[in-house]
Amino acid sequence: MRLIIFLQIAILLSACSNSSELQPTNDSTYTFVMIHFEAGYKGRLDNDLPIDIPEEYHTMDFGWQEYLFETAEKVVQKADNYGFHLTLAFNPQWAEYILLDNAKINTVRLWQEQGHQIAFHHHSINHPDWNGYSNDPNAINNPIPFLGNVDEGLDFIRNLAVPASVSTAMIGGLPIDLPLSYENTSENLIFAGGSQYSSFELYGPLRSLKPHNVIKNNGAKITWVTHRQLTNGLNDFTVDEALEIFKTEYINMQNDEIYGIVFHCFDYKKTEETYNNWFEFINNNGNNVKTVNEVISNYKYEIPIEQL
Ligand SMILES: [Zn+2]
Repeated sequence: MRLIIFLQIAILLSACSNSSELQPTNDSTYTFVMIHFEAGYKGRLDNDLPIDIPEEYHTMDFGWQEYLFETAEKVVQKADNYGFHLTLAFNPQWAEYILLDNAKINTVRLWQEQGHQIAFHHHSINHPDWNGYSNDPNAINNPIPFLGNVDEGLDFIRNLAVPASVSTAMIGGLPIDLPLSYENTSENLIFAGGSQYSSFELYGPLRSLKPHNVIKNNGAKITWVTHRQLTNGLNDFTVDEALEIFKTEYINMQNDEIYGIVFHCFDYKKTEETYNNWFEFINNNGNNVKTVNEVISNYKYEIPIEQL
């Protein structure tokens, strides 16, 4: 008898705590933060850098990465304080750099254990910071040394992320630069897209915040999601003005929309407070930043299929 009463109280208590947990949570809001880790390859050094990098880093093989790795640790730490899961999208040079040092590999393992996701970011030959990888046959004629096809670059990220697979990407230069392994895989993929030009009404139609699927010839699916770009160096907006525009848009989003923000690791170095402000804003809204993969696997609505 005493046991039954005890069980009833236990059930009652757990029911109470469940309902109080559910009430304030706006759990229909899907949100992610993707961070782009730029190549910092020769084009970045030959052209104007978007941030001032001390002279000594210019001559190092991975000077860009060496200068910014601490910033990467800092932003991940900040997200950890909130229990947020980031999507960390690396150009090949970042993975190559991290793979040279066991301590840094272990750091990335810890990030993964905390729930952060490793994704692929590719700068095509048309980007001022081309990463040297391309599927374009003319790439070997570029003054910046060609390093291999896009899959060879992607392999560095795969080696870093293992045993996790790298199924989320933001790839410039599509369709030519679609890695052959992505074209052939039967695994479902998620591609993110959206730049400053599709982030503000001033520049034209906003890119839809609803995901859509594209079915490849082999029947596997690519789910496309949008991110809004919250970056420094916009001509018409300061990063803090952009932040306020995105907050308003976030508050007004519909249940079946996904609100993704993208910024660069160097942006965090430059204006950390802006991005911390976004984290705080999401947290104050009772929400949680999830990885792109988590957002899509939790998504409750039907995703329409669109033609390639
Ligand atoms: Zn980029």
